[in-house]
Amino acid sequence: MPLFKKLLPEHVVDKLPEALCNPSLEFDEEAESLPVYNGETGDLLFKNKVPGARRVSRQRLRALLAKDLDESGTIRWGKRLAEFSQIDGEAGPVQLRFEDGSTYDADYVLGADGSSSKVRELLFNGDEVARVQLSGFMFATAIVKYGDAAKVEAVLKTHPVAAITMATNSVGGCGVMYAGEPNDLSDWTTMWVKIWRKSVAPLPEGVSAGQEALDYLKATTKGLAEPFQSMIDWSPDGSPCHIDEMKTWVPQPFDNRGGRITLAGDAAHPMLIYRGQGFQHAILDASQYLDALIKVNEGAGTKEHAIAAYDADMIERGAKAVRQSLQEAEFSMDPKTVHKMLMAREGHGRSV
Ligand SMILES: Cc1cc2nc3c(=O)[nH]c(=O)nc-3n(C[C@H](O)[C@H](O)[C@H](O)COP(=O)(O)OP(=O)(O)OC[C@H]3O[C@@H](n4cnc5c(N)ncnc54)[C@H](O)[C@@H]3O)c2cc1C
Repeated sequence: MPLFKKLLPEHVVDKLPEALCNPSLEFDEEAESLPVYNGETGDLLFKNKVPGARRVSRQRLRALLAKDLDESGTIRWGKRLAEFSQIDGEAGPVQLRFEDGSTYDADYVLGADGSSSKVRELLFNGDEVARVQLSGFMFATAIVKYGDAAKVEAVLKTHPVAAITMATNSVGGCGVMYAGEPNDLSDWTTMWVKIWRKSVAPLPEGVSAGQEALDYLKATTKGLAEPFQSMIDWSPDGSPCHIDEMKTWVPQPFDNRGGRITLAGDAAHPMLIYRGQGFQHAILDASQYLDALIKVNEGAGTKEHAIAAYDADMIERGAKAVRQSLQEAEFSMDPKTVHKMLMAREGHGRSV
């Protein structure tokens, strides 16, 4: 959080509470913790301290971060990158060409276009080696509005922000998505997630979202400790629900075109969502990249050296975090190995 705040203008930092899932929650030691329950017995397995951590709505955060840039016309929405070229070799700018035929000349390109990054694909000249890998672990999420204060109360009883279950064949989680008035819990929206091994319960063909996905999850999730089982069973028909296989890519060295083009965030190191590492590394990337550009701008280094140094750090750090996330997933599915997880031993601090 301190690094994230450092990257933002002060007036945006002041508005960060607007992006929180529950803007009126008073944060204390309990709210700044993450409990992990045994999914079979409901007993608390361990509870991590997460000082300063805040659960945000991605939609709200994106809206807040984009506001000024949008108003100044800096963001061009709906552009899909098709290819890039270097007109004047590495001495000149990079020309980006979008699917709608438009072009843009940029001195520097930072590919932050998510796990199936087009920039990554282009950097590797379309080689298979740049393709994201299926992890063998499925991820489902549902956003639910129960319209019933007692059911929301059951979610809040596990924890005021979010809680996790483990040590069964699956990992579950729940939390507050959009808090309404504190005195009217029936108006609150919550969410639950489920992770499981694809080989144990393969997804039927064509089931990935909507009612079919919700029906599938209700039918295949049985015997979870309360209140986690009920949270799934209670989900009203029509609740937004998505299922997908989680993907990873272990970063490796690439030709950054003389320091002109590189990667950050999930484009650089898509990992499984264990231990909240993805966003933390994305923020560190942004900070390190900015430092590298400042260095070049101030004449304290060449772009070749500064961006190569950025790449080397990002690749080493990212590769370690991706591998750790896969190991965490393996350990989380078995009661005999849960205690080996970094999450159990070291908590939620950044991996590197
Ligand atoms: C359910 C869930 C929970 C998570 N929880 C946590 C957590 O608690 N803590 C944590 O640290 N991390 C968490 N993560 C991971 C975290 O969300 C990601 O690591 C983070 O969002 C990565 O940010 P990003 O900007 O690199 O990529 P993204 O957020 O994926 O953004 C990529 C953007 O690029 C755009 N794009 C894609 N392709 C193109 C194209 N061809 N042209 C133009 N634009 C394109 C997309 O539309 C998108 O806006 C979670 C992830 C999920 C799915």
